[in-house]
Amino acid sequence: ESTAACQPLSLTNARELLDSVDAFLLDCDGVIWKGDTLIDGVPETLELLRSKGKKLVFVTNNSMKSRKQYAHKFQSLGIPVTEEEIFSSSFAAAMYLKVNEFPPQKNVYVIGGEGILEELKLAGFTGHGGPEDGAKTVQLKANTLFEHDKNVGAVVVGIDPNLNYYKLQYATLCIRENPGCIFIATNRDATGNMTDLQEWPGAGCMVAAVCGATEKEPIVVGKPSTFLMDFLQKKYNIPTSRMCMVGDRLDTDILFGQNAGCRTLLVLSGVTSQSTLQDPSNRIQPQIYTNQISDIFDLLKS
Ligand code: PLP
Ligand code: CA
Repeated sequence: ESTAACQPLSLTNARELLDSVDAFLLDCDGVIWKGDTLIDGVPETLELLRSKGKKLVFVTNNSMKSRKQYAHKFQSLGIPVTEEEIFSSSFAAAMYLKVNEFPPQKNVYVIGGEGILEELKLAGFTGHGGPEDGAKTVQLKANTLFEHDKNVGAVVVGIDPNLNYYKLQYATLCIRENPGCIFIATNRDATGNMTDLQEWPGAGCMVAAVCGATEKEPIVVGKPSTFLMDFLQKKYNIPTSRMCMVGDRLDTDILFGQNAGCRTLLVLSGVTSQSTLQDPSNRIQPQIYTNQISDIFDLLKS
C-alpha cells in the first residue's frame, strides 16, 4: 500500500479520475446529506457523473432505514435514485444471511431499527425485536427466568435509539445459548448524524455492548467489510480498480475502498477535518481529498 501523502482535488487529477473509473461508490451521510439536510451542489454533481456514463452506487452504514425508505429520502431531497442503486447496512445484513444460506425456518433477533426488520422480511426471513422491544423492561427477581427464543439462529445488531437491558439480555442469551447462533453487526461507526445539528453515539457502542456481554466478535457486513465489497463486485462486475469510493469517514469509507484496491476520495463535508486527515497519528490516507463532492462539478462543468 502506498503511503504517499494524499493530494487535493485539482483539474488534472479530477480529469484523470473520471477517465479511469466506471463507477462511483458514494457514502451518504457527510457526502450527499447531513442528517436530513442536502449538502450543497449534490444534485448537479450526480447528474454530471451520470451524464459521463458513470454508474452510481450509494453505500450507507446507517441501518435505520431500508433501501426503499432511503429511495424515498433521496426523492424527497430532489435526487432521482432507485432502490436498486442503494446498499444500506440493513440490506447487507439480510444479504449476508441469504448468501450464507441461513435457514428461513430459523428466526433472527434484532437490536436495531425498522429498516433491518423490513430487509429481513423482503429476503424471506423472520425477524423480531427492534422497535417492538423498545419499551420492554426486565424483572430482576429471585426465581424468575428470562425466557428467549431457542429458534433464533442469528442476532443482528445495528443502531438502536431504544436500546435497553431487555434487548441486551435477549441478544446475549441467543448468542451464548443457541447452538451455532451467528452474531452480525451492521456497522461499527463510532458516531452518526441522527440529526443534522450534532453527532450521536453510533452502532459501534451498541455492538460493543453485545461483544462485552458475550465475549464474541461479530461479523461486520457494512463498510469497511469485505462482504459488502465482494457483493458489489459480483453485482456490477466492474474491476475494483475502476471504482472510486467517495466518503467522509476514514475508518469505514476510505478503508473500505483502499482494502479493495479502489480509487479513494475523501470529502471534508462530514466527520473528518483536514487537521485529522493530516495528523501524523492518522494511518488511513485517501488518494485525493476535497471540501465537498460538488468540487468535482465546479472543476469539470465546462
Ligand atoms: N450510523 C448512524 C446511526 C448514522 O446516523 C449515520 C449517519 O447519519 C451513519 C451510521 C453513517 O452513515 P453513512 O455511512 O451514510 O455515512
Ligand atoms: Ca459518511
